[in-house]
Amino acid sequence: MPAPVRLRPEIVALPAYAQGRAASADSFKLSSNENPFPPHPAVLAAIRDLDINRYPDASALVVRERLAARHGVTADEVIVGAGSVAVLAQLISAAASVGDEVVHAWRSFEAYPGLITVAGATSVAVPLLPDARHDLPAMAAAVTDRTRVVIVCTPNNPTGTIVTADEFATFMAAVPNDLLVILDEAYVEFVRDEASVDGAALIGHYPNLVVLRTFSKAYGLAGLRVGYAIAHEAIVQAARSTAIPLSVTEAAQRAVLAALDHEAELLEQVAVLAMRRDEVQQQLRAQGWQLPVTHGNFLWLPTGAATAEAAALFSAAGLVVRAFAPEGIRISIAEAESVATLVRVAGEVVRTL
Ligand SMILES: *Cc1c(COP(=O)(O)O)cnc(C)c1O
Repeated sequence: MPAPVRLRPEIVALPAYAQGRAASADSFKLSSNENPFPPHPAVLAAIRDLDINRYPDASALVVRERLAARHGVTADEVIVGAGSVAVLAQLISAAASVGDEVVHAWRSFEAYPGLITVAGATSVAVPLLPDARHDLPAMAAAVTDRTRVVIVCTPNNPTGTIVTADEFATFMAAVPNDLLVILDEAYVEFVRDEASVDGAALIGHYPNLVVLRTFSKAYGLAGLRVGYAIAHEAIVQAARSTAIPLSVTEAAQRAVLAALDHEAELLEQVAVLAMRRDEVQQQLRAQGWQLPVTHGNFLWLPTGAATAEAAALFSAAGLVVRAFAPEGIRISIAEAESVATLVRVAGEVVRTL
């Protein structure tokens, strides 16, 4: 339907955001990498009895102070947003606009191209290596005079692959030090490989590096929308200027504090999910799957041209998965009760490939 007013053509051309489909009562939603555990009672208690007639604290100061203390920085080096996607959008808008380029891997997080277009900038997508890992040398080579931001996603959504600390150090040495590099670590808590890059260990080492994290996945707060970044004070200030004011709710801020108070228990659940992931990975390899090694709370099945058919098989079996035709299927590691069906259907699918 044509719009009755003049809109930005590049915005009109954007595909609508495709959310992981909701599950019916007798199916499992394995399409959004959410945490399957119910919220911690302390989190629920913290968001009860809010003065919702009042605005929240605009800068989430108490949360920033708490995160600053754990990362050994000042509160001015922490930015909190309505999900780490919001922080990412703010950072991109702060650094890139019309005529500027943003380099990222592809396939990677599906939100990246849209956020870049909304900022007015141009997306430069660098293909993953055949083993579904970031091709960091190619990403460094894609940097031009017009590049303002590079996004590195590790573990990569949707393939689960990590960037190693050595690879990342080489990359940082190869790119200009006035280029904003965003390390998107939405799944870092699930990583068990010691060779992996760890943004927290790099804070203070590179003035152009932003470490981006979220409470949506490991901490189970996806529905409250809260994430954060650690960066140089001047970068934080610029990203704050591009925010929609007051978008981080008081409920989200209180929930973060409660979740951090009970972090050890939450990280035990993360450990359960990481073990479950490794067991499923092993079983699928035994079935003949050639999977990239996954380090997040999800798996990547390279189903290629058979993606739509395979997704239909999972769906018929009561598992809602995320299909990226014609490349593959991303499946969250979630409820224990979903695993047997996941493995059974994967076994049927691999025989048809
Ligand atoms: C889920 C996810 C995010 C974060 O989402 P928020 O809920 O907005 O914090 C960020 N990056 C990647 C790669 C993700 O998969």
